[in-house]
Amino acid sequence: MAIPGSGLAKGLAVTLRTMTRRSVTAQYPDVQPELPPRTRGVIGLFEENCTVCMLCARECPDWCIYIDSHKETVPAATPGGRERSRNVLDRFAIDFALCMYCGICIEVCPFDALFWSPEFEYAETDIHELTHERDKLREWMWTVPEPPALDPAAEEPKEIAAARKAAEKLAAQQQQEGEA
Ligand code: SF4
Ligand code: SF4
Repeated sequence: MAIPGSGLAKGLAVTLRTMTRRSVTAQYPDVQPELPPRTRGVIGLFEENCTVCMLCARECPDWCIYIDSHKETVPAATPGGRERSRNVLDRFAIDFALCMYCGICIEVCPFDALFWSPEFEYAETDIHELTHERDKLREWMWTVPEPPALDPAAEEPKEIAAARKAAEKLAAQQQQEGEA
């Protein structure tokens, strides 16, 4: 059987314990939260890198990436050469009302055209406004933080190693020509 007044004592003990703890209430929007730099806030599109391969749209589990494009013929680079065709982007949009911020589109893009930005203040009163078209997605690109520095102990990336070797070869060639 419970001792009379024990409930009140327990309640007071909890009150006293929590009174001395620091409050964790965030005073947003008066105080901005300190977010980690790689926070998944919104997705930016670097259009120049996009080849319209459609991989992101196909892999998106929510089907919320909308891409339209058309083909254009590029004239042959050399006389007698073959004409080539390339995809030209007409529309690229992401519906953030559907997006679940899984990041699959960014992971699968083979051409580094999609990036996370930590910006998150884009709430709308009209749900249609949450479909961000290519111009808006480009604007988000300017809020993408720099990539973290490479680990000094990491293996040199293949591209940098190849560029360095080519530059060294060219410098050696120029030196030989100068000495001759
Ligand atoms: S983050 Fe995920 S849900 Fe959102 S657009 Fe990319 S793949 Fe689709
Ligand atoms: S995966 Fe990358 S390159 Fe391909 S359509 Fe999407 S953004 Fe463009």
